[in-house]
Amino acid sequence: QTTLKSKTKDPYPDWKPGEPVPYAALCTTFSMIEMTTKRLEMTAHCSLFLRQVLRLTPDDLLPTVLLMINKLAADYAGIELGIGESLIMKAIGEATGRSLQVIKQDQKEIGDLGLVAVKSRSKQRTMFKPKALTIRGVHKSLMDIATVTGNGAQGRKVDGIMKLLSAADGNMSGAVDISKDKGGPSEAKYIVRFLEGKLRLGLAEKTVLVSLAQAMVCHELEAGGSGKVPSTEALAKGESILKTVHSNLPSYDVVIPAMLQHGIMNLRENCKLQPGVPLKPMLAKPTKAITEVLDRFEGQTFTCEYKYDGERAQIHYVAKDSPQQYRGVSGGLTAIFSRNSEDLSKKYPDVLAKLNTWVKEDTKSFVLDCESVAWDVVEKKVLPFQQLMTRKKKDVKIEDVKVKVCVYAFDLLFLNGEAVVEKSLRERRELLHSAFTPVEGEFAFATSMNGQEIDEIQTFLDESVKASCEGLMVKMLDGTESGYEPSKRSRNWLKIKKDYLSGIGDSLDLVVLGAYFGKGKRTSVYGAFLLACYNSNTDTYETVCNIGTGFSEAVLETLHQDLSDITIDRPKPFYSHSSGNQHQPDVWFEPKYVWEVKTADLTLSPRYKAGCKEGVDPSGEKGISLRFPRFIQVRDDKKPDEATSSRQVAEMYRKQESVTKSKGPAVDDDF
Ligand code: ATP
Repeated sequence: QTTLKSKTKDPYPDWKPGEPVPYAALCTTFSMIEMTTKRLEMTAHCSLFLRQVLRLTPDDLLPTVLLMINKLAADYAGIELGIGESLIMKAIGEATGRSLQVIKQDQKEIGDLGLVAVKSRSKQRTMFKPKALTIRGVHKSLMDIATVTGNGAQGRKVDGIMKLLSAADGNMSGAVDISKDKGGPSEAKYIVRFLEGKLRLGLAEKTVLVSLAQAMVCHELEAGGSGKVPSTEALAKGESILKTVHSNLPSYDVVIPAMLQHGIMNLRENCKLQPGVPLKPMLAKPTKAITEVLDRFEGQTFTCEYKYDGERAQIHYVAKDSPQQYRGVSGGLTAIFSRNSEDLSKKYPDVLAKLNTWVKEDTKSFVLDCESVAWDVVEKKVLPFQQLMTRKKKDVKIEDVKVKVCVYAFDLLFLNGEAVVEKSLRERRELLHSAFTPVEGEFAFATSMNGQEIDEIQTFLDESVKASCEGLMVKMLDGTESGYEPSKRSRNWLKIKKDYLSGIGDSLDLVVLGAYFGKGKRTSVYGAFLLACYNSNTDTYETVCNIGTGFSEAVLETLHQDLSDITIDRPKPFYSHSSGNQHQPDVWFEPKYVWEVKTADLTLSPRYKAGCKEGVDPSGEKGISLRFPRFIQVRDDKKPDEATSSRQVAEMYRKQESVTKSKGPAVDDDF
């Protein structure tokens, strides 16, 4: 590894030890990362930069990492920029003295607002050189923009963006050939892309995490004065520690200071799962038959649980008199977090108010994994998911709650000051049952059955369906493999859904990228839509089908209203779609909405791009597409980058292929 300095002669004279890191230095690194598609090179650039930050200005490590992963804070903090293309265009215009019309025209031609900003900036003549931007300054300004509320918020956001862009040095070297070098290390370009929510460097968060671990291991050796190159084992150990710690405590705000204080090798002991910081939940793999489950768990004990059809709820609790308090808050804590770490406490005040009736007295702190399910108070039974959807989402008042919920707990991750994720599921279940008391219609343990025979499982599946559940979850019960694996879609949890006992085993959650105007009765709304899955390696959305079935007229109305607000003039550069003229939708959208979609099966089609990079088609030209897709519902609890991934689609396709090979090739009969 070379140091930044050895490449060029002190390119950042402003960056002295202890001084704020110049934002331009980060942009240079971004630009180098953007120039390569090789993951190893990206990691090297990234870790080299972080090492330099560690050496010179460790105080800036946190904002540096946050700017690298395009976030301002941890997900649970609920801070989102929420800035659409039109607002950014307005700010670029105002910052550079160009008319909105010209900016719009540039965007039509270039298709990348970041580059539009570079172009606008390079045409601008400035009277005096603005003060150099720093990483901590940019982070703070972006934070201010994100948290503006109240009257005239939009205008103040534009002002904030404008100030940032005016201070950005852009690429001031006269004419810029933006097609040649992707705009170079321009500050304006990366600020605009950050605001859009996509830096488009191909830099996944896990690459930043690995780079951070590497930088820290190297830095500790260097600081220790040994001057040695770290061994492969030391690097691997550092990576594994940081990955585990981060998946249990996904908060850089907590992990980075702890790492600086205790060192990376001691991080596991000093930084553990804690109430108040939601972790990404463990997820299950789909299966199509009980025999598939039995094959997977052959020779091992497993347990079946009802798969409740509601909303995932992670409940965090610290009693007022708990010996330990967390997140610097004393006086206790209660919170409910969603599947994607959003704070749902204001949606479920009724659950939180009743908590003391089912938490035993000596249970002082916990993190529970549950499903909140709509409950019929008269018939005393579970209601379908659709009922839950009618509940208000924010600022719910207990007295106004019409749809009651019952919480079904299926896992325990933390109890009385101790993380229990590494214990076996059998042990966790015993602890769960010992720490809480079921209360009818309010709190219950997920119904489970430990029988290992096919007939027992079939009967249990039938019973689950009668009890209005979606099917079963089958989980490894004993041994280290039965530990709770945060953020993983694990083979140790399998799901069997009643509706998917044939076909592909699961529905897909897809992002809406475009729409086609309706015909006949549907002329005032969109009649069909273009959907995509998410490729987390390339940070792109890959198209997977057109869909026009499963929508009621009323749903089409609502979708039309919601989607009209997020139309854009042309596809984002991170949309991967066939370029053929006849395949273009009439309207494009910002990536915002995720829809659950059912399909008969999967096939290959030159019209779509899903899984193209996963090697499903030897020629590399065809992507996977859905046959007879059908709309089920909007998935409010998933963000676009939590949609079904290209890899999952490819996995489903391969599984289906191995089953249907004998039946001849699937036909591509897309509409
Ligand atoms: P989907 O919810 O559509 O199945 P998903 O991607 O949200 O997909 P999966 O891992 O596929 O999540 O399915 C597991 C989901 O089922 C959990 O997120 C949880 O909300 C729900 N669930 C219901 N009952 C259980 C249970 N007993 N154990 C684990 N999860 C359960």
